[in-house]
Amino acid sequence: MESAIRQSLHDLVLPGTTLLALNLLEYIQVDDTKIFLVFKLPDDFATADKSWEKAIQNACEQVCALPIMITFHRHKAEQKKSISGITGVHHVIAVASGKGGVGKSSICLNLALAMQSLGLNVGVLDADIYGPSLPTMTGVFEKPEATPQKKLIPHHKFGLKLMSMGFMVPKDAAIIWRGLMVQSAVTQMLGDVLWDHDGTELDILFIDLPPGTGDAQLTIAQKSNLSGAVITTTAQELALIDARRAIKMFEKVNIPILGIIENMSHFHCPGCGLDSHIFTKDGAHDESLRQKLPLLGEIPIDIAFRESADKGEPFFLKYPSHPISDVFINIAQQLQSKISKEAMHG
Ligand code: ADP
Repeated sequence: MESAIRQSLHDLVLPGTTLLALNLLEYIQVDDTKIFLVFKLPDDFATADKSWEKAIQNACEQVCALPIMITFHRHKAEQKKSISGITGVHHVIAVASGKGGVGKSSICLNLALAMQSLGLNVGVLDADIYGPSLPTMTGVFEKPEATPQKKLIPHHKFGLKLMSMGFMVPKDAAIIWRGLMVQSAVTQMLGDVLWDHDGTELDILFIDLPPGTGDAQLTIAQKSNLSGAVITTTAQELALIDARRAIKMFEKVNIPILGIIENMSHFHCPGCGLDSHIFTKDGAHDESLRQKLPLLGEIPIDIAFRESADKGEPFFLKYPSHPISDVFINIAQQLQSKISKEAMHG
């Protein structure tokens, strides 16, 4: 199927240009439910023209009946000044939680994909050294390549650039991290990854922080110039107590908190049709009012959401038209506008 799609794009010239679509194709993924294509945005174009997407859709539809998702990435020519302190990365957003298991990693990955669908170059750094879940959630387990200078080349999947401590250690290895080891592992992940190795810079790097407010979180906060942090929590008081600690930590180190995401907000029972608020109702909403922080969105508990994480098939890509994917798009749009405002004032 992949070669048929490439073939269908072979002679396609992007409307209004002399550019061959195939020359700009950067990534292609075909599965049972959809086709996912990532193109480089041509030099001198700030955004993709709607007619290009239509032309590509039409060409692909000749050889395949599956839904097609198309994303354009900005090309190398538009080099921007990095304000993140990390080479090849423009903005860094930390995804944090006080408590483990509230869905921080799942939210981080799906949010990264939603952000990408807005046309941005996006990467994910899974800095959860205690329990890296990016390998399972993406189905990537290989060790990354290293250059002779010992710099790491991030993996590419779903159009994202990915790095995780989980790529470096055997799957079931037990690692006991102590203070200095934590700092040096995190420092290495921040400084030694060649995010722009292919000549393309990242607009946004999402860092999936370990839960809590310990050494790793502080090291990241101090070593990179975070554009902001997003706090993930459930509505339950036990999770909120820890979320408050995380908020305090970021405030102490002067990192803006972009907002709160409530995960597992409710469960819609497919059997009886009723909604259950398993972790109570309005907890994160009320907390966001107390903290004067925006509630960016609420993600319900969903069986398919959990299944796609286990299978390495991100929910956002598998179910692009699902209401949960709409929530991710909405959050991504809010973050994009907050960050552009910050960049203007910063
Ligand atoms: P954390 O990074 O906070 O430890 P994870 O993202 O690893 O949390 O999620 C913990 C578990 O909960 C995983 O099995 C994940 O698939 C599942 N999960 C997370 N969010 C949801 C959700 N909204 N609906 C169903 N399962 C979820």
